[in-house]
Amino acid sequence: MTRFWTGDYYNEGNGGRDSIFDKLKEECGVFGVFGNSEASNLAYYGLHALQHRGEESCGICTSDNGTFHYHRGMGLVKEVFDRDNLTGLVGNQGIGHVRYSTSGSSQLANAQPLVFKYRGGDLAVATNGNLVNEPGIRKELEEKGSIFQTTSDTEVIAHLIARSPKDLVEAVKDAFSTVIGGFAFLIMTQDKLLAACDPHGLRPLVMGRLGESYIFASESCALETIGAVYERDVQPGELLVLDKDGLHEDRFAPMERRAVCAMEYIYFARPDSDIYGVNLHTSRKRMGQTLAQEAFVDADIVTGVPDSSISAAIGYAEQTGIPYELGLIKNKYTGRTFIQPSQELREKGVKMKLSAVRKVVEGKRVVMIDDSIVRGTTSLRIVNMLRDAGALEVHVRITSPPFMNPCYYGIDTPNPADLIASSKTVEEIRQAINADSLYFLSERGLIDSVGGHDNEYNRGLCLACFNNDYPTPVEFKDAKLTSCGCD
Ligand code: SF4
Repeated sequence: MTRFWTGDYYNEGNGGRDSIFDKLKEECGVFGVFGNSEASNLAYYGLHALQHRGEESCGICTSDNGTFHYHRGMGLVKEVFDRDNLTGLVGNQGIGHVRYSTSGSSQLANAQPLVFKYRGGDLAVATNGNLVNEPGIRKELEEKGSIFQTTSDTEVIAHLIARSPKDLVEAVKDAFSTVIGGFAFLIMTQDKLLAACDPHGLRPLVMGRLGESYIFASESCALETIGAVYERDVQPGELLVLDKDGLHEDRFAPMERRAVCAMEYIYFARPDSDIYGVNLHTSRKRMGQTLAQEAFVDADIVTGVPDSSISAAIGYAEQTGIPYELGLIKNKYTGRTFIQPSQELREKGVKMKLSAVRKVVEGKRVVMIDDSIVRGTTSLRIVNMLRDAGALEVHVRITSPPFMNPCYYGIDTPNPADLIASSKTVEEIRQAINADSLYFLSERGLIDSVGGHDNEYNRGLCLACFNNDYPTPVEFKDAKLTSCGCD
């Protein structure tokens, strides 16, 4: 049954809960500027570069000599902002946010940056990630009289800051010391910009320079877009403060075991971004090469599921000498639809978004590289699509270990029971997705392919969704299991 638009967006890309693809849901992206009269224009372009991290809503808040201006809305950056509303966002500092897709009814209230008034003045907050112990803190704050407007973690941080009798920087340090989770925060006051990363560095945040001004972004591709030069990653537990006297490097916690989200390397981040000096395209290529070493299969062509698996498919092809071909093409222009897909339309929707190239795959033995298998339904559709286009054999190679545990740090994973790898063996998954063979990259292979920090545990990666080894305690009463804290 076709349902017309009810006011909710149903995303056909990787982001929506009603997505026709059962990919993991992306989190959010943050962007900040300090010391540039073009702050809002830079934020606009920066958020555009981070659009893949969230398509549902976005916003920018600037400070003009102490006066806040902000605009937020539902939709893509290019839809929410136009020349008029950007012109109104004057000021030489600003923060922005893109938020991932949901189909809830009160999304605009949660669109960020959130802006608050407190005894010290105005405060704007933008976050990426999730606070594991947020429900308990929220409950405690409510018992002490706090009234919340949103369901966002961001507001909890704002209340913790507002209730503190200390000056802003000390209050922020206290607030971040209270929370547990994976997060990157940007906080703006009338004359300061603060950037912080959780003590494990689970969510990425980089700092760059554009002339004399400072730029922060969830991914380095946003720095490139505005012509800024990458300076460094914000370190786990670090609090960077910018004010009229420049940059102050501080900490709210010592660095604990570094545990950068492995899925950022595998899937989320753009291939032209670097995280801790590791380029995403290059590390994905290595994942493909390692897959070939671990699970070679003779075939006629290698193809990658666009876009995130193309780099790995190139790596697999280089390693084996089997030619890389564009066996699958993504239609980039389908965007969002106002129609909630019925089962029948979902099937059509997959073809609208992704097509097998018959002339390329017909009569061929195909190695199909993908980044992950969540429920298995997407893999089945794509394998069948290749078979329908005439592929003789379809061998599936995955650039991650089996995804079997929920994420507590801002990746919106399905109910654990719906994760196919949580209840099925690799052979059972192979049968479920109708593949001729199936192999998941080993944990060691993944760690070495990323090639991060030598001499650190897991070379500085979080692998909890693969091996249940969470870098923080997660057994909090009412701990939020799956969603991004922006939600
Ligand atoms: S549990 Fe998985 S998705 Fe979540 S932060 Fe760790 S590696 Fe990333």
